[in-house]
Amino acid sequence: MVEKNRVVVVGCGIAGLSAAVSAAEFGADVTLLERSTKEERGGNTRWTEAFMRMKNEKEVADDFIEHFLANAGCHLDPSLINETARNYSEWPSIVKALSFADPEVISTLATEAGPTLSWLKEYGIQFSVMPTYLLTQSTTRICPVGGGLALIEALADRAEKLGVKFQYETTAVDLVCDDHGSVAGIRARKDTIKPIEVMGKVILASGGFEGNAEMQARYYGERARYIRPVARGGYYNRGEGLRMALNLGASTCGDFSEYHAQPIDPRSGVSEPIVFNFPYGILVDREGRRFIDEASNTVDAIYENVARTINKLPGGVAYLICDARLDEVDNWQRSVRSDQKPIMADTLQDLATQLEIPVASLTKTVVEFNAATSDGPFSPFELDGLATEYLNPPKSNWALPIAIGPFRAWPVSSANCFTFGGLRCNANAQILDGDGRPIPGIYAAGETMGLYYKSYTGATSVLRGAVFGRIAGRHASGLAS
Ligand SMILES: Cc1cc2nc3c(=O)[nH]c(=O)nc-3n(C[C@H](O)[C@H](O)[C@H](O)COP(=O)(O)OP(=O)(O)OC[C@H]3O[C@@H](n4cnc5c(N)ncnc54)[C@H](O)[C@@H]3O)c2cc1C
Repeated sequence: MVEKNRVVVVGCGIAGLSAAVSAAEFGADVTLLERSTKEERGGNTRWTEAFMRMKNEKEVADDFIEHFLANAGCHLDPSLINETARNYSEWPSIVKALSFADPEVISTLATEAGPTLSWLKEYGIQFSVMPTYLLTQSTTRICPVGGGLALIEALADRAEKLGVKFQYETTAVDLVCDDHGSVAGIRARKDTIKPIEVMGKVILASGGFEGNAEMQARYYGERARYIRPVARGGYYNRGEGLRMALNLGASTCGDFSEYHAQPIDPRSGVSEPIVFNFPYGILVDREGRRFIDEASNTVDAIYENVARTINKLPGGVAYLICDARLDEVDNWQRSVRSDQKPIMADTLQDLATQLEIPVASLTKTVVEFNAATSDGPFSPFELDGLATEYLNPPKSNWALPIAIGPFRAWPVSSANCFTFGGLRCNANAQILDGDGRPIPGIYAAGETMGLYYKSYTGATSVLRGAVFGRIAGRHASGLAS
């Protein structure tokens, strides 16, 4: 009897489950370790609507590759980037291990997206274009009906039927290597007694480090103190996968000094309590001063930068101020998911007092802002060019005066949706060492595999997990070409 290849997957999100199902489909004997209970399984994936930057179920959005390439890194050395025009096998080791969004990986993500969605559909997942909390959008998105939770339930069900062994409340802590330095298994803690060892090829799909305050402070500096995960699932992602592979000499990918930021209401404990109506008001800091163009582009294109900028303000907080004309934006409530009511006042003075912002300063800001607004049609669902004049910072669209009570305000802070910094992998999801060589026996997928720099190519993280999880499982099974 031929012995099955053994594969051990760490993490039960979209990346881990895709890896487990695909490895099992290719005949491997698969064990999946997950630190949470079965009820809470799914990490970040459990909490997302899982929007995907696709035109339809088969094709990625028109701007998919373009956005990734425009955000492949910062001030990249053209002499190294030019080397990527050659066949991958001819790339010098310093390019294979370079910290940038590798075009081989990006094109694999784009070409495998459609086939991966077809694969997910085999397990009953349906895709649709759903209304989103983004009132204005720069690209196309579809999502699975039922969101990330539907992905988790369908894939976990499939994995169970294929005989994948799930070990919940089991935290991977270390890699086991053989005498030749190849990864041969995982050491994990289930309770207080001595760690267990699960042998096999290892697929790290344990998310990023958004649930680890120490690592965030290490990489982001003191601004980390104001950041929290955007949903409960992120608290489980504590960076062990990254640490284990770095200890083995893995190289990295993704910007370790940035994260995918979302503006949220810090008073709210619901999942993803976003405040995405800021383009229809003004944002001020604790001193009542504006600090950013609230409407430089569609909301999906700018919310990350707005949230990162808020994170760097004193106290890591800003206030969104709107007046009664917010109600001219049909269904604006869709763009705010906080369960906390806005702070309301009939006068700006009263609003400032309630927010503990200096009254004179907020009044001056609003008077100057109103004086800089101009006449023109207000068209809330397209870039209407209704901009301020001679104001710094400007407001480039939807610049109505803040003049008609009642006034309302939301506090806004920056949440970490997921971390950018992760492990450098090739298009087979194999983790690369400092010389760009695959480290034998180990893969990464999902957030653990770093990818993003500068501005997140929105609605691609779930896709990244599904595509590279599936590839990792297939490759690790050893039975696929
Ligand atoms: C509210 C919200 C909305 C989002 N919206 C979108 C969107 O619309 N589109 C999009 O593309 N992306 C979105 N994202 C991001 C996306 O959901 C995640 O980046 C993606 O789902 C991560 O998948 P993953 O499998 O890599 O990690 P996760 O889904 O986080 O899974 C990681 C798993 O590993 C487990 N784990 C961690 N450490 C260990 C360990 N040491 N041992 C054992 N188990 C461990 C965790 O418990 C967790 O179950 C959103 C995220 C959130 C939170």
